[in-house]
Amino acid sequence: MYFFDPHIHMAARTTDDFATMAKMDCLVVGEPAFWMGYDRSGTNSFYDYFRQLTEWEPKRAANHGIQHYAWMGINAKEAEDVGFAREVIALLPEFLDRPNVLGIGEIGLHKCTKNEVTTLLGLIDLAMAREEQMLFHTPHLEDKYLGTRMILDILRADSRVDRSRVCIDHCEEHTIRPALEEGYWAGITLYPTTKATPQRAADMIEVYGPERILVNSSADWGPSDPLAVRRFMHEMRRRRHPESLIRRIVYDNPLEFFRGSRNFRFVPPEQD
Ligand SMILES: [Zn+2]
Repeated sequence: MYFFDPHIHMAARTTDDFATMAKMDCLVVGEPAFWMGYDRSGTNSFYDYFRQLTEWEPKRAANHGIQHYAWMGINAKEAEDVGFAREVIALLPEFLDRPNVLGIGEIGLHKCTKNEVTTLLGLIDLAMAREEQMLFHTPHLEDKYLGTRMILDILRADSRVDRSRVCIDHCEEHTIRPALEEGYWAGITLYPTTKATPQRAADMIEVYGPERILVNSSADWGPSDPLAVRRFMHEMRRRRHPESLIRRIVYDNPLEFFRGSRNFRFVPPEQD
């Protein structure tokens, strides 16, 4: 069964990972701009990173038959310096027009500070002015509940937001319900240490059903697993869920969400 990994940081992964994912029938990856493990020293570093995500990574993926899409943004970890973030935001329009870019992401909160919120409002403004889709990173562990609530409050207060074109990512048991109830897509991240496991993701789907749920690996430079979506599929099969349900979550759902972006030009394998 083909699958999407709608949130993965391939720039931090080896070519062997692309090869293995392709062998395991990964068809499409979505790569949000994020923190590379160190703070950038200037806007040029962001400029080159955005070029990497829109010029080099799509080619690297295509060599393995994988379709690569990206999201442009400045992550919350580098959003504290509001003036610097503003300069990075000014770079985004040029990249948002590139053919593999789905929208603005991953953006959100990390420590939930006033400055992070200021930067986030600037990013949402840009997204709304350009009618872009948005992908939200929610904070880790002890900050997750507060940060998710803050993001949902900000979005609720903005009448321009079309919730069917927004994904609230890294949802866990205590945050997935409000994201779904308020009409957003909810991403579940399968991480070996924090976030969710394939088992916990399967539990959440058994409670909430498959509608508007995405699962992803968010694999990056840290302990993470580029085949996590496959492990989730295996767990669902082990629980004797039908193939149609599994396909809905790992293929039909991300396809529907990505189709909300004007730059998404998916070629189904059957019609290739
Ligand atoms: Zn990420």
